[in-house]
This record gives sequence, structure tokens and C-alpha cells, in this order.
Amino acid sequence: MRDKRVLMSACLLGLGCRYDGTARGPISVPEGVCPVPVCPEQLGGLPTPRPSARLRGGDGRAVLQGKAKVVNVAGEDVTEAFLRGARGALALCRLLGIRKAILKERSPSCGVRRVWIGDELKEGRGVLAALLEQAGIEIVSSEDLGYET
Ligand code: SF4
Repeated sequence: MRDKRVLMSACLLGLGCRYDGTARGPISVPEGVCPVPVCPEQLGGLPTPRPSARLRGGDGRAVLQGKAKVVNVAGEDVTEAFLRGARGALALCRLLGIRKAILKERSPSCGVRRVWIGDELKEGRGVLAALLEQAGIEIVSSEDLGYET
């Protein structure tokens, strides 16, 4: 029975919400899990498709501290949209009593272990992953479900 609600990066479930309008997966949902799909970048008001974006100056934790930002390939600062989407996803978790999230690795929003910071893939969290971690929600990398990015 699927009764445990878990937030999941929507693109992992086959929804075409990535920057280029494509999806990833669909990933196998673990037994007993009721996935709640969310794309924080869409939730933050960004369109699909949209210019791809990367972290600048630090990872998602640094963004939460105001020490880093997110900039798209057009040179636009999209930090506020990323923060708005992450806060919206956290609000959804609180509304639904969600205590765990399965997130797409390497994304500037959803990355759990590694994210692109400038032109380098570095250890760190995306903006949503950092916010959920800060709120005490367990975050799991898509790689731990056998999904290779
Ligand atoms: Fe949206 Fe996260 Fe998937 Fe990127 S990785 S498309 S932000 S759900």
C-alpha cells in the first residue's frame, strides 16, 4: 500500500519540467511511498522551457545565507525565483506532513551531494535541498535509488 507521502523532484517521475522541457526517469518509486511531485523552479514562477541556471559563489546553503546566487545562461539573476520555489515546496511539506524528499542529483535546486557551481561540479546542495535540510526534512539523492544522472 502506498501510504507514506514523500516529496519527489517532479522530473524524476517523468514530468517534463526540466529547463529544456524534458523529463528524467521515470524512476522506480520505492514500495510504500506515495510520491508528491514538485518542481521548485516552476513553483518559483520560472517558465518551461527556461534558460539553464547555475549556482555562483557557493552552493544552496550559501544562497540561503545570502552569500551566493543563481544565474542563468542569459546572465539573469534568478535567485529570488529559486528561493520562492524552495519555500513553496517546504510549505507543501508542512501542509502534507511530509518528512522526506527524494531529489534529483546535480540540479541547482534539487542536488543533494553535488551541484554545478560556475563551471565546476562540486560537493554541495541545491537551494531546495539546503532549505529542506535546514527544516529537518530527510533528503535522499536520486542516485541512492539507483538513478544515474
Ligand atoms: Fe525541477 Fe528539480 Fe527536476 Fe530541476 S531537478 S527540473 S528543479 S524537479
